[in-house]
Amino acid sequence: MSPSRLAPSLLLALLAVVLPAQATPGSGAPARRSLLGGQHIDGRCPPRFRRCLAFTFDDGPEILTTPRLLDMLDEHHVHATFFVVGHRIDGDAPHHRAQRNLLREIVRRGHLLGNHTYHHVVLGNLRPGQIAFEIDRTGDLVAQSTGHRPELMRAPFGMLTAPRSLGAVAARNLTPAYWMIDTHDWEVTSAEAVTARFRQELLEHPYGGVVLMHDTRPWSVRAFPLIMQVVARRNAQLVARGEAPFAIINLDQFVFPRGEDPLRGAPLNLRHPRGSSTSRPPHSLSR
Ligand SMILES: [Zn+2]
Repeated sequence: MSPSRLAPSLLLALLAVVLPAQATPGSGAPARRSLLGGQHIDGRCPPRFRRCLAFTFDDGPEILTTPRLLDMLDEHHVHATFFVVGHRIDGDAPHHRAQRNLLREIVRRGHLLGNHTYHHVVLGNLRPGQIAFEIDRTGDLVAQSTGHRPELMRAPFGMLTAPRSLGAVAARNLTPAYWMIDTHDWEVTSAEAVTARFRQELLEHPYGGVVLMHDTRPWSVRAFPLIMQVVARRNAQLVARGEAPFAIINLDQFVFPRGEDPLRGAPLNLRHPRGSSTSRPPHSLSR
């Protein structure tokens, strides 16, 4: 059933729960709450959400693909988090300047930025000075472009297990962010394949969580509205059964002032960075 076929009252009810109190995209960034504090986001929904989806886009910004995604996010009233790579915004070439402007546009539309290193490398393979460069240079570039240093960190390939890389993230008080739903958009080449994978992942993770996608892939951008159709249909089924639908939230709703939430507000656990046996192991070397 398409959203347009839903009874108007049901559609309004769905929108009310799917879009909880978000700022209107394009109206400027929402009031900022610090995400710093040595926590980590393991990919599961915050406890106050029975079901949730939080979209994250890695490896950009990419001037050829990210702008269209921003328009699609606006159309669906979704705020997301972009984990950006430093080398894409460092330099005087026209595309570097355009991608720095793109960072500002991402923030202007109310999305969050996170640090995804400078060279997109496995931090644990590097010497301490190199790890510091990967994190700090990217943070500097984002801060110079937008006025805000990223507080969220996603290590390339989700690999943040080596003590020296974990220590570097903890020393900077960054919040590592993992994911629960992997669209595997790095190993396919069509929007339909990305959407099919998302649908399958939603069956495997019935309460949702953080979604991993890449705004550098055109098929991922084209998949986004198809994925929103999947969510709308699934939510209609859930509501019809009297169950909580998926709320679409952003990563700032996963982080709590220390002490507010004993489960998710715990200090970074250096031995078990993903925090839960229900989380997935580190992924293959493609994202
Ligand atoms: Zn990546």
